[in-house]
Amino acid sequence: MSFWAPDVTDNHHQQHKIITVFAIALSVTACSLTAGITPQLKTHQLPTKVNSVPVSQENLTSQINSQSQAPNKVKNLNFTVPPTFQGKTVYHVQPQNNEKVIALSIDDGPWPKTTIQMLDILKQNDVKATFFWVGQAIQANPEIAKRVVAEGHAIGNHTWHHWYRRMDLATAKSEIERTNELIYKTTGVKTSLFRPPGGVLNNGLAAYAKSQNYAVIMWSQTSADTDPRAKSQVFVKNVLRDAKPGSIVLMHDGGGDRTRTVQALPEIITRLKQQGYRFVTVPELLQIQQSIVNSQ
Ligand SMILES: [Zn+2]
Repeated sequence: MSFWAPDVTDNHHQQHKIITVFAIALSVTACSLTAGITPQLKTHQLPTKVNSVPVSQENLTSQINSQSQAPNKVKNLNFTVPPTFQGKTVYHVQPQNNEKVIALSIDDGPWPKTTIQMLDILKQNDVKATFFWVGQAIQANPEIAKRVVAEGHAIGNHTWHHWYRRMDLATAKSEIERTNELIYKTTGVKTSLFRPPGGVLNNGLAAYAKSQNYAVIMWSQTSADTDPRAKSQVFVKNVLRDAKPGSIVLMHDGGGDRTRTVQALPEIITRLKQQGYRFVTVPELLQIQQSIVNSQ
């Protein structure tokens, strides 16, 4: 399902070695939700106490500053991207020495039940992932959002409504900035990572995001977990089949019933680890690529 070819549209510097995948081919498997989000927070109980995140500017500044002094003690709240990737579209990176690093990206939450289940699995396996959130879902599930951040995962913006349709500049701006504002207000996170719903790059959203120096984060392989008929084992196969150093893997924690993704996740992690892969967040992946560019 993946097509690997040099990127000639978004990255003018060949040495970046960012590889393009045909978005059209992949978008059919991404982000199946279209009819709005109907989270059911009322029926859900968080299994563990969630650390609340202070939202005042003073506290945030304090936390961000202290993070830089003690990165192991305070969670990272800043997911801005290196200059190399600002305004660019990224499908994967090429790690130095072909190091086996891989990033799991998880879209369409935060979502009752399945996000929590995936957080538990990620924690048990000491894996950090990157969650691309829908504004409406954050609004419905703020405590889950706080837990994702508290557990050290990276956060990206996946618009407010998860629309695919073409939109004018004001709408595109609203879809992205309204979501970023709520991410910040809810969790204290600032992010410059943007993923267009469905991987659609020509409806105005990606153009706006690039104009504001977001990095448009696509993926190089998909679990195809929005396929309503496939069994969870197929998601595992899909990921393992195309795993490469520097890959960004697409899966979903929300936007529908993601029970099968939850079922597939432990085996995806275990088998990739068996192959020697180390899991990193998308920002970490970009930093790895950045170090190559700087050394050339
Ligand atoms: Zn999506």
